[in-house]
Amino acid sequence: MDSHSNTSFWRVFPLLRPYLRQLIIGGVSMIIYVGCWPILAWLAGELIPNIGKGDLKRVTQVIVLALIVFLVQKCAQFLQDISLAEPALRVSQQLRQDVFISLQAVDLGSLEKLSSGDLTYRLTEDADRVGEVIYKSIQDTTPSLLQLIAVFSYMTVLDWKLSISTLILAPLVTLLVSTFGAKVMITAEKSQKQVSSLAGLIGEVIQGLPLVRAFAAEKWINNRFNEEIDLHRKARFKTLRLLALQHPVVGFIEASGILSILAIGAARIQSGELTSQGFSSYIAALLMLIDPISHLTTNFNELKQGQASLRRLLRIGSEPKEMQDSPNPQHLGRISGNITIQNLSFSYDGINETLSKLNIQINKGQVTALVGPSGAGKSTIFSLLLRFVRPQKGNILVDGIDISNVKSSELRTQLALVPQRVTVFSGTISDAIRFGRDFDDQNVIRAAQIANAHEFIKNLPRGYETILEERGTNISGGQLQRIAIARAVLGDPSVLLLDEATSALDAEAEACVQLALRQAMEGRTVLVIAHRLSTVQEADQIIVIDKGLISDVGTHDQLIKKEGRYKDLCSRQLIRQ
Ligand code: ATP
Repeated sequence: MDSHSNTSFWRVFPLLRPYLRQLIIGGVSMIIYVGCWPILAWLAGELIPNIGKGDLKRVTQVIVLALIVFLVQKCAQFLQDISLAEPALRVSQQLRQDVFISLQAVDLGSLEKLSSGDLTYRLTEDADRVGEVIYKSIQDTTPSLLQLIAVFSYMTVLDWKLSISTLILAPLVTLLVSTFGAKVMITAEKSQKQVSSLAGLIGEVIQGLPLVRAFAAEKWINNRFNEEIDLHRKARFKTLRLLALQHPVVGFIEASGILSILAIGAARIQSGELTSQGFSSYIAALLMLIDPISHLTTNFNELKQGQASLRRLLRIGSEPKEMQDSPNPQHLGRISGNITIQNLSFSYDGINETLSKLNIQINKGQVTALVGPSGAGKSTIFSLLLRFVRPQKGNILVDGIDISNVKSSELRTQLALVPQRVTVFSGTISDAIRFGRDFDDQNVIRAAQIANAHEFIKNLPRGYETILEERGTNISGGQLQRIAIARAVLGDPSVLLLDEATSALDAEAEACVQLALRQAMEGRTVLVIAHRLSTVQEADQIIVIDKGLISDVGTHDQLIKKEGRYKDLCSRQLIRQ
């Protein structure tokens, strides 16, 4: 059983504390609303026998009184609903925000294992369901429960012996409802998991639609989709079947109970232990129990479904977290850019070493090219430098300071990454360059000029305010790369981590990107995962990585003379002309 099986909504309720004022207003209104029910039951007891007697005056008095009570009750209900909606919505918003914040802190390796569709579903649908349950719990479940207590107390005052016979039914109904509830939660969780997996597939398909078309794989993908929706239908049907069974079973028990109470009541009137007026009030009160019982049954099921959603939502928070900053971090400040990697070993799974006993010295202002076959461990070196992952052995020093002792945010302002695949969020070009950082327009333009992007941006109809579509599909690949370079140099970092794009651009676009890179590299320490011959030829040192080990170090001229791995990579065109 997973550690979250005890996740209950009690964990969420402390979040309501800041909304005490609304809760008090809602609570008082709720008491008024609920308090009206026994009065209405008493009025029904007054009304029914007088209708029988034909006492029109008394009937009119009682009806007017009942109307006033109804009016007060409905006003109280409105006030209750409106004052409780806001705290409930705020709590669900807070919960979503907390989960989103914990998502930011999840270790990147663990994040890669989670499907983006599944996460989206959890943060939207699951969070909505949880919010719905919170709202219903305070706005519907609580008054229904109070109504049940108030009306039943009134019934006990009227005739406690009859109430005891009514009470015999209660454990049976409770047992049925909770048994069904537990089953509903299990089936609901399965069904929600299925929707998540469906959302994951849809996300993949949308991203890969051009590929699907290019390979004429529509039939294959349709079949996969059909299998998923079939599984979803089956999982959902199981929940609906349970609910379909629950309502008639509980309903029949309730109906039998009411009929037996009518029979017992008739016998008690005959024996003179109960008046017909008292019995009328009793029956009216009994009927007033049906509604809250039905609400409680439905809400209990929804609570169980919501609990499954809450579990899935909170599970995000228990994913392994990114390495924490040390409690007393060393101040890094503006670095000059000397990097020392000492005897470093790293493994993703704790078993197989991805990098072994690495020793690298990079001096400030130097360009170091990392080359090696796919899977050699080049990107992992970047992840270690940016502290996305922690080495099991060895250290990385920046200007002599161990990076495990500095704040990761401070480290990352000094080491800027230009990734191979550029990611942009939808928004303006200037937003894409700023990426949430507080720089003025002049700085953004300066960064774009360094990245050789200013000219093309300026010539766009809306310039820096041009809206980039999702994944930047409305500009060219080369332009997108230059925006990524502008983004990296915006904070004037001392070190540039450059993951060269492998896909070739046309000659003109390539020349623009090369110029951008040359300008961006000026005066900085650069570590580049190199795929181009021009880059490695210009590098001050080339480090050849193979299966996690350094197999050679030198300049292009030195390495090409050796019959080693580097020459092999060049001749196999793994470093392109
Ligand atoms: P490429 O040039 O193809 O990008 P690379 O030299 O950059 O390759 P890395 O991405 O550093 O290689 O990967 C090194 C090894 O670590 C590979 O075997 C890869 O499968 C593995 N690896 C990379 N990322 C992870 C991860 N998040 N979890 C587990 N293993 C990983």
